[in-house]
Amino acid sequence: MKPSAIPTTVKTTCPYCGVGCGVKAQVGADGALAIAGDADHPASQGRLCVKGSALGETVGLQGRLLAPMLREEGVLREASWDEAVGRVADGFARIVAEHGPDAVALYVSGQLLTEDYYVANKFMKGFIGSANIDTNSRLCMSSAVAGHKRAFGEDLVPGCYEDFELADLVVLVGSNAAWCHPTLYQRLVRAKEARPQMKVVVIDPRRTATCDIADLHLPIKPGTDVWLFNGLLAYLVQQKAVDSRFIAEHTAGLDDALAAAAQGGNLLDVARTCRVDPQQLLAFYELFARTEQVVSAFTMGVNQSSSGADKVNSIINCHLATGRIGRPGMGPFSLTGQPNAMGGREVGGLANMLAAHMELDDAGQRALLQAFWAAPRMADKPGLKAVDLFQAIEAGKVKAVWIMATNPLVSLPDADQARRALEKCELVVASDIVLGTDTNASAHVLLPALGWGEKDGTVTNSERCISRQRAFLAAPGQARPDWRIICDVARRMGFRDFDFDGPHAIFDEHARLSGYGNGVDGGRRRAFDIRGLAGMPRAGYDALDPVQWPVRSRGEPTVRLFADGRFAHPDGRARFVPTLARAPAHALDAEFPLVLNTGRVRDQWHTMTRTGRAPTLAQHVPEPFIDMHPQDALLWGVKAGELARVTSRWGAVVARVQHGGGIARGSVFMPIHWSGQTASDARVGAVVNPAVDPVSGEPEFKHTPVRVEPFGVNWYGFILSRVALPLLEAAHWTRVQGNGFIRYELAGRTPAAQAADWGRALLRVEDEEADWIEVEDRNGGMYRAAHLVDGRIEACLFVSRRQDLPARAWLAGMFAKEALGQGDRLQLLSGRAKEPGLDAGPTVCSCFGVGRKTIEIAIRRHGLKEAPQVTACIKAGGNCGSCVPEIRALLAEAALPA
Ligand code: SF4
Repeated sequence: MKPSAIPTTVKTTCPYCGVGCGVKAQVGADGALAIAGDADHPASQGRLCVKGSALGETVGLQGRLLAPMLREEGVLREASWDEAVGRVADGFARIVAEHGPDAVALYVSGQLLTEDYYVANKFMKGFIGSANIDTNSRLCMSSAVAGHKRAFGEDLVPGCYEDFELADLVVLVGSNAAWCHPTLYQRLVRAKEARPQMKVVVIDPRRTATCDIADLHLPIKPGTDVWLFNGLLAYLVQQKAVDSRFIAEHTAGLDDALAAAAQGGNLLDVARTCRVDPQQLLAFYELFARTEQVVSAFTMGVNQSSSGADKVNSIINCHLATGRIGRPGMGPFSLTGQPNAMGGREVGGLANMLAAHMELDDAGQRALLQAFWAAPRMADKPGLKAVDLFQAIEAGKVKAVWIMATNPLVSLPDADQARRALEKCELVVASDIVLGTDTNASAHVLLPALGWGEKDGTVTNSERCISRQRAFLAAPGQARPDWRIICDVARRMGFRDFDFDGPHAIFDEHARLSGYGNGVDGGRRRAFDIRGLAGMPRAGYDALDPVQWPVRSRGEPTVRLFADGRFAHPDGRARFVPTLARAPAHALDAEFPLVLNTGRVRDQWHTMTRTGRAPTLAQHVPEPFIDMHPQDALLWGVKAGELARVTSRWGAVVARVQHGGGIARGSVFMPIHWSGQTASDARVGAVVNPAVDPVSGEPEFKHTPVRVEPFGVNWYGFILSRVALPLLEAAHWTRVQGNGFIRYELAGRTPAAQAADWGRALLRVEDEEADWIEVEDRNGGMYRAAHLVDGRIEACLFVSRRQDLPARAWLAGMFAKEALGQGDRLQLLSGRAKEPGLDAGPTVCSCFGVGRKTIEIAIRRHGLKEAPQVTACIKAGGNCGSCVPEIRALLAEAALPA
């Protein structure tokens, strides 16, 4: 079924990463969706990465949750909105009456629009009377929030994306921007091409694709960032490379910060602790000291740590010491992961914040907000942060939770604990766009929400730019916007002032609140102030162009903050924060001798409930993997291409071993995207330790002690099938969407010789007369089969004792054919393409579907030396540019002596 379409062209915003690219969506008369970059959007200037470009592949209705559902005695049934809203409202009201407001909670998401977030926060903190509303943004940027508040007095990103282009030195710390913030990275690439004197330093334990443009890569030991930046602060002071006037006039606390920094020892001590070459460390320190225009951008590698807030402040300290903040081409820069993590922060969507950057621990500001909302019961103490919240649910202290637009049973650390928690919870409500998620399987009430392209509101990106997300598809089924669902429940509970007639009305209240009591009568002046956007008629809201806050009066956006050296602390001074370096929460030992680091892959987003639908995005990394150093693989008895189990004190996962991810010895890397829906046992959150930063509450996703061991199987196999299959025979399976088929990777512990016996059953070939071709070598444990209907391939199955099975990319081409000829059938059974060129190999360039083998052949055949030559020859790398680092690696490989 296709979504019903309103034929028009609409400017909107990409729903994935925090860059917040502008998108133009055009719905054709036939319902087909054309996606292009919006050249007018300041964040992206017309560019999209492959995830944004493939948005059109993600909006179908297959798998959507289209009606409210109730689970009763384990069985789901459809319900009316009236009944579902009543079930939630009555459940919340009863539990609050019996156990108090802290017995209920909301767990929301950086995927919500600001308007959704605003009413969720108002409902919980002003009307339920508890601050038990936290968000999945806790998992990715709460350390940055804490660092900003400590240093600046408010949660602010001072700079803008243009600063990356104006800087003479860009330091990327714990950021694989090439994959995780691709269009911003491409802006940096172009700026460096235009000004080759610009330097880029990458500080990351892994040699990621981002290192492609690095003049210097410091592969620090995981978790040692504070030592490195404390060392830099001490070096800057020793070398008198600080801005004494700025420090004297605009900051406080340098002495204490220096005393803390001194504990890391001298430069050699720091180099030893960080496990980097002292000469390279000195080179970085010298470069930082002598370069005025420095941007230090950081993201999950910094934030996701039990000392994340201190890591953030150790970076900011160096910028305060040099006065490099608030001016063009300089400043610390937190890159947010999600599209609206920033919007959530603006409305107080974290358990320790109030709306409009007011402070929960400030009685005056609580009173101000209570008056504005006419709130009957204001929260007066911080609520439970994400990890604590799920522990409180398991302990029975929180008895009802409403989860919106997120999948915590996959994304939280110690994710099996989160599952136990929901299994015990009296009332689990989930608002979602899809039905089948790990989390939704535990929900008692499922509420169908609108998805991207259907919902309407605003988001804020990493540079404080508020952009409209606009609807261009009709609401499917009975799905409703999140803000309306929350308001319906609030009204059913008897709460006033939830009768908004659209997102514009919510935005107006949000904008008015930002100016309410802001800086008047000696009150704290809050930098988050968009009162200039209040009072817009609906048409003005609908036409709103991207604008950076603060907007104190109409037409006065602010590109950079702190240009006047005045910060948000009451005395106007920024604070140096003493950052005592400390080791990660859990140390390695003989049982768990390796560090697990987790993160994203280039073409997927979060738990793949949306990007997992797009065949274009499935080809680059089609299955979960364990990236590790070849010597570690040798040491722990695992082999590239074979399966291994990664075990921690909290859980275990299974994935295929690979090398080449730039990982140092002693660490392994796994992607975060696979869930119980897409793999049998690759939900990496189950392995991640639940230690959190004591200040920010952000979990330590980058440092879990683990061991790696072989996952013994008797056979490997894969299936390409036009229809979904049950996979009971497999000891391990993974699933991705291909173009016209689903691809299953399998491994089994049954004898390989039995493959022929269960192949037909597995592929549901019940008819004895079916067009079923097969070849078997029982002794060799090899089996190949295909099922055809009217000459068209329906499914194929390949099994072998070894993992070197036929190329999936080549076989995928068979599914594009209307009918297979005799030659095709022979190739199928032989497991080899007749011509080597037909096997393109694993996808490198997703935009143009160019495989590794195609690139290698082109390089060899045409003697190509540079990435632009590859692009000119076979297009690869010619659109979003995300694959250029991989193309350059192939060029370098080809240039090696034979
Ligand atoms: Fe979307 Fe981020 Fe890609 Fe831009 S860079 S298109 S916001 S995923």
